[in-house]
Amino acid sequence: MHVAMSRAWLIGAGPGDVELMTLKATRALAQADVVLVDDLVNPEVLQFARADARIVYVGKRGGHPSTPQAGIVAQLLDHVRAGRSVARLKGGDPFVFGRGGEEQQALHAAGVEVEVINGITAGIAAPAAIGIPVTHRDYAQGVVFVTGHGAGSGEPDWAALAATQMTLVIYMGMRRLDDIVGALLAAGMSADTPCAAIESATRPEQRHALARLGEFAATVSRAGLGSPAIVVIGGVVSLALMRAAAQADAATPGAHGAATP
Ligand code: SAH
Repeated sequence: MHVAMSRAWLIGAGPGDVELMTLKATRALAQADVVLVDDLVNPEVLQFARADARIVYVGKRGGHPSTPQAGIVAQLLDHVRAGRSVARLKGGDPFVFGRGGEEQQALHAAGVEVEVINGITAGIAAPAAIGIPVTHRDYAQGVVFVTGHGAGSGEPDWAALAATQMTLVIYMGMRRLDDIVGALLAAGMSADTPCAAIESATRPEQRHALARLGEFAATVSRAGLGSPAIVVIGGVVSLALMRAAAQADAATPGAHGAATP
């Protein structure tokens, strides 16, 4: 029996804004001896880690070489076995496209228990950041979270997804946006369907683009938007389109004819 139990946490750091992290996540971070940090995690969240904690970056962005998944799990296990408490910190929610499920499986297989602490996923936070609810009684009965790059289980069935009439929230979809839009149009989705792309949501550098499906890929490319971004397709996006139109109206003196002095 261990006396001083080391612990392992799989923690969601949320979409970027430090204040969107959960209390539970900050408290676990404050206990960790070692913090393994993924790409897309805002480094500001490390303010909650102990000053003497060992911080290890295992992300692939920012010029760092990416640590293979097996290597990350091996590091985690080494620390736990050495009696150190380890926080595995991931962007958004650890169980939404974050490979948290795979890491949990590997830890379980090695007999190590891990506590999962949810985070706010980018697929909900990014649309909300520009006023788009992922469901709304007037527009969508549900929402589908889907990956745009299709690694692992292959290409999503875009025709089937278009047929659901639900809000589509696409992660990692920017690089293949042309193909995705083409597949949705080919499946019969209306070219008038409102779409949004939100880059670096909830961070100071947040930017977005709004357009109808027919012009969406060109609009995003003109705006120069890139990763990380969330793509939202469906009726709920009209809330943001209507608001943008109203704001443009308000900003144009005389736009309402009768209101011209
Ligand atoms: N576990 C994460 C998702 C990891 S997959 C989560 O729950 O949010 C990485 C993808 O998430 C990116 O390619 C992008 O599509 C999306 N993403 C993550 N953070 C984002 C942010 N701040 N703004 C926009 N998209 C983001």
